[in-house]
Amino acid sequence: MKALLKNGKSVTVAKSAKPVAADTQVVIQVGLAGLCRTDIYAAQGKLKVRDPLILGHELAGTVDAVGSAVEGLKSGQRVTVNPILRCHQCNRCKQGESCCDTGFVGLDMDGGFAEYIAVPAYTVLPLADDVSFLHAAYTEPVAASLAVLKSGITPSDGNATVIGSTVTATGTTYVSGYLNDVIELTWLC
Ligand SMILES: [Zn+2]
Ligand SMILES: [Zn+2]
Repeated sequence: MKALLKNGKSVTVAKSAKPVAADTQVVIQVGLAGLCRTDIYAAQGKLKVRDPLILGHELAGTVDAVGSAVEGLKSGQRVTVNPILRCHQCNRCKQGESCCDTGFVGLDMDGGFAEYIAVPAYTVLPLADDVSFLHAAYTEPVAASLAVLKSGITPSDGNATVIGSTVTATGTTYVSGYLNDVIELTWLC
């Protein structure tokens, strides 16, 4: 298959072996993958990742194959991915909190800038028929934006500042629109 392969500070379209679904994995034929600032930082070497690596974690596509232990997903199903990896062993995982040893699709394992990607089945989320791949690929940044609502900030708290110029920061500004005078600053590094 074709993949966008990061190697050192070069990113090139290269041939890569089509992934095979391990027992607990799902192989997705990528329909659309969004470019995140995280991908750019990794490509520029500002984020340390292994080489070579297929970047990309904001994606949607169609299930191509499922591993033998995977239940509830089948080929042909339209899906997106929650790119946060979990160990399922630590106390935080057991309590449904963020993993102590978390990893990320497209940073700690090959990502979605390819024709196919293999991911753990627990990261795969089925899509409703009327959700386009374009909209579904925004699931992760929109979810990250919505996390601001977990902060406990309420309109009565007054002003808030959103730092960043990414989709997530813009989304945070949007979803927290009930806050007064949200200021968006440009990330300068
Ligand atoms: Zn992202
Ligand atoms: Zn864990």
